[in-house]
Amino acid sequence: MSRQVDFEIDNQWVRSQRGPKNQVETHKPYGFFVEEERSAGGEIEKVATIFLTNNECPFHCLMCDLWKNTTSVPVKPGAIPAQIRWALDRMPKAKTIKLYNSGNFFDVKAIPPEDYEQIAELLKNYERVIVESHPKLINRLTYSFQELLDPQLEVALGLETAQPQVLERLNKNMTLDDFAKAVQILNLHHIPTRAFILVKPPFMNESEGVVWAQRSLDFAFDQSVQRCTVIPTRNGNGALDEIGAMGFFSQPRLRSLEKVLDYGVSQYPGKVFADLWDLELFSECPNCLTKRQERLHQMNVRQTVLPEVPCSCN
Ligand code: SF4
Ligand SMILES: [Zn+2]
Repeated sequence: MSRQVDFEIDNQWVRSQRGPKNQVETHKPYGFFVEEERSAGGEIEKVATIFLTNNECPFHCLMCDLWKNTTSVPVKPGAIPAQIRWALDRMPKAKTIKLYNSGNFFDVKAIPPEDYEQIAELLKNYERVIVESHPKLINRLTYSFQELLDPQLEVALGLETAQPQVLERLNKNMTLDDFAKAVQILNLHHIPTRAFILVKPPFMNESEGVVWAQRSLDFAFDQSVQRCTVIPTRNGNGALDEIGAMGFFSQPRLRSLEKVLDYGVSQYPGKVFADLWDLELFSECPNCLTKRQERLHQMNVRQTVLPEVPCSCN
């Protein structure tokens, strides 16, 4: 692992690097869409995602830019069900729905627990509901929400990296043990999990970024996580840009994301997916970007390793 920063990366420092937030409205989500995903049973199904507008996450991870679309105070009871209704009225039907709230679903300052019943009623026709949470915020509210739901609850947890020193420097306030315990307790309650894993977080060079993403997949599946999404680490939240200017971070190459997905799909078919947003950020060659995007999309959907894209940039 390369050099270390000579100051403490803490909440205050991460916050001090931020630019302004985007303007958001609490009666509607800040985004929603429907996409295709391969289900645990192997079928290609429609999955809806709603990005709920709510209070900022209390953690301050070095690489996180989700704070940009949050409020600075808790939203009023009723606002979250209203946002879900707003999106459902405008979205095609799907079997699975992701409610991503830029933080932790079971944080009482994010999603008011008194809204759980209405949320469950709105989602009763789905088969699966996926929410996100920091491993330390898995608590009794998780199980009370699960009891209210007709669909199966699934929880997405950010593992980020299994490299312990880098994980500590990400200021996530979480150890690998915290992650493992959260998965264990969710499994005990019959709640499946998915993990988010970063490709090339800060403090890693290109090859370390690939190897540690692969090891992080192994670590997650060793803990009995059911599915993983690998995410190329992006600039743009202030803190990471500053860390990059100091020489401790640069965005991964598209080829690195490909290597991680190749590994994941070959070792754990049906269980590993790549995040394909803004892939042009990671491409160094305009000639093959579209073909590489399509290959990754097909690998996400078909869960089989496809032939490499031939290009002089290889
Ligand atoms: S816990 Fe998740 S939402 Fe909160 S700061 Fe970290 S990455 Fe962002
Ligand atoms: Zn190329």
